[in-house]
Amino acid sequence: MPERVLRVCALYPDLMNIYADRGNLIMFERRCQWRGIGFELSSAGLDEPLDPDGADLYYIGGGQDRDQKLCAHDLAERKRDDVHAAASRGAVILAVCGGYQLLGHSYQLGVETLPGVGLVDLHTVRSEESRLIGNVAIEVELDTGSSGRPQVLAGFENHGGRTFLGDAEPLGRVLKGHGNNGGDGHEGVRAGNVIGTYLHGPLLPKNAWFADWLIATALGLAEPLAELDDFLEDAAHAEARRAAGV
Ligand code: GLN
Repeated sequence: MPERVLRVCALYPDLMNIYADRGNLIMFERRCQWRGIGFELSSAGLDEPLDPDGADLYYIGGGQDRDQKLCAHDLAERKRDDVHAAASRGAVILAVCGGYQLLGHSYQLGVETLPGVGLVDLHTVRSEESRLIGNVAIEVELDTGSSGRPQVLAGFENHGGRTFLGDAEPLGRVLKGHGNNGGDGHEGVRAGNVIGTYLHGPLLPKNAWFADWLIATALGLAEPLAELDDFLEDAAHAEARRAAGV
């Protein structure tokens, strides 16, 4: 039995999994495995309970508007208290794109307003204008304990929704791309260990350093994770930055 185990719970893994966002889960699994850290994956789909103590990290990927509709009600009505309980005890919550949009108060889709889970002060509005699509790079300030690593996240965005933060900090500053709404230069949200972002790619295979930050944070590690041979991961990161022009 490994001394440490990272327990990850994927929310709606079949519905909220656009642009191969499931690759983020594989990234967690492999980077734990390569270091001798155990990895346990559970899931909480529609109508299934979410155990607020059952995971160190809860993950929700992106999704089409129609799949988001199904998940939004389930999340806000059936899982709300448990998601809040998990966040209150410091579990990491990582949400990408469509999942990110559900972290706030609401996602307004024309005449319909989908409820959010209300973890952070933000709301999203579906615009009639062009979707915000393209390669994106953002600058983030996270304590990685290793000053030599890049503090840039690079990926790809494709969203019709525009997200507006209230009393909440963005995850990062847009270097290239659109970010939350194409206007204010903000990308994503960070409230303690709750993180939302529009970045696909998938996000983590292109930003291995961020995967490690999330693993270390979820496990509450004081010491840095063991280094890995990141030749391919660094190349993927460099290519994502090159594509974004950063
Ligand atoms: N359906 C949402 C939008 O278009 C999110 C899309 C996504 O997850 N890529 O804004």
